[in-house]
Amino acid sequence: MTQTPANSETAGARRRKTAVDAVPPGAEPGQGGARRVMARCDEVALISAMEHGIERTYLTSQHKAHNRLAAQWMRSAGLQTRVDEAGTLRGRLPGATPDAPVLYLGSHLDTVPDAGKYDGILGVTAAIEVASRFAERAQAGEPLPFALEVLAFGDEEGVRFGATLLGSRAMAGTWDPDWFELKDARGVTLREAMEEFGLDPDRVYDAAIDPEQTVGYLEAHIEQGPYLQDADKALGLVTSIAGARRLTVTVIGEAGHAGGTPYGRRRDALIGSSHAVIAIDRIGQERGVIVTVGELTVVDGAINVVPGRVEFTIDLRAATDEDRDAAYDEMIAELQSICLDRDLQVTVHEHHRAPGALCDPELMEAVREGIVATGDEEPMSLYSKAGHDAMAIAEVAPMAMLFTRCLDGISHNPGESVRHDDVDRALDALETAIRRIARNAA
Ligand SMILES: [Zn+2]
Repeated sequence: MTQTPANSETAGARRRKTAVDAVPPGAEPGQGGARRVMARCDEVALISAMEHGIERTYLTSQHKAHNRLAAQWMRSAGLQTRVDEAGTLRGRLPGATPDAPVLYLGSHLDTVPDAGKYDGILGVTAAIEVASRFAERAQAGEPLPFALEVLAFGDEEGVRFGATLLGSRAMAGTWDPDWFELKDARGVTLREAMEEFGLDPDRVYDAAIDPEQTVGYLEAHIEQGPYLQDADKALGLVTSIAGARRLTVTVIGEAGHAGGTPYGRRRDALIGSSHAVIAIDRIGQERGVIVTVGELTVVDGAINVVPGRVEFTIDLRAATDEDRDAAYDEMIAELQSICLDRDLQVTVHEHHRAPGALCDPELMEAVREGIVATGDEEPMSLYSKAGHDAMAIAEVAPMAMLFTRCLDGISHNPGESVRHDDVDRALDALETAIRRIARNAA
């Protein structure tokens, strides 16, 4: 039995074939529902604004097209479909009674430019597949005690208007009216784009769910990191979604002649910043948080000038806000100490701080049971370093997430690849998780 990547047509995936071969063999590709789920991921990948590559953004003709396609799949799975006031496609399987609460299951169909086939899409196609199993059972006279609603969000990535999670924030009732004036690259406002799409912007608030009538939200997603692959695990139990803090640091020394300024008199902003960056990285590793200095600029720098002013950015994420904030405090204290020693001034401007979201313990237990049922007796727990729609929903309802291993952790890249047998496991895990939630609700 040979193991090949589910998606092997890209050069990137071909180059990484060795790593794929290192993954232990599983079920035959294409068994169970995975065959259909993977074929659907291939099909939605054909909808793109790019000639070569995948790009689908909010309120575009691609958004219309992916909603149309996924609605067909939902209807053939036995779901009742509608597009909500924020453009999210929803497919509903009614519960045992008309007033039954709702368990939501979903992810997003929009992408970054030159995307892969699975980030978000796998969560939607898997949700439709799992819902079809429950639809069959409902047909046979065994309805769930709650309605099951599959969600296909049209804006998670925030590519077109710069604000992320628009579909799920509308559902959570946290839509910000200021967003209507956001403009895309062509100067079209979000309000205009909604109208062009056929939505009434003033009714976007009607997309909000009723938390009192919500059982919870489950999202399956590719991991977008290599931790599951490295641990030889197909599936992972998500514990929380990290909320990032982002800041810009400005270090000011004194510009001077590169030849004429002796070392003892230099107030070199770049040397101070370099020591600070190394210290920040060390603290991040020691504390087990994730920190990245992604930009560093010598302002008005020149080859023959001792740097007088440097600006750099910090992106900081951790499993919990407490861990993240403790690391932040230590980093800033170290930064100030380094600058004080070198007679440099330092200012820190924080321009983004999002709270992390904790997964709900009961829903996590259900996901854990789901993973165990696939034969993995000790499911791996991990937190999500990337943002997801589940974050927005977490503000109003319990949520949990299931991660599926992806090749080498590659994501936001055409080389995104998942294995058929992992997808089969993910489907079975979701189904088992929903059964357990149903058992507890009954
Ligand atoms: Zn995603």
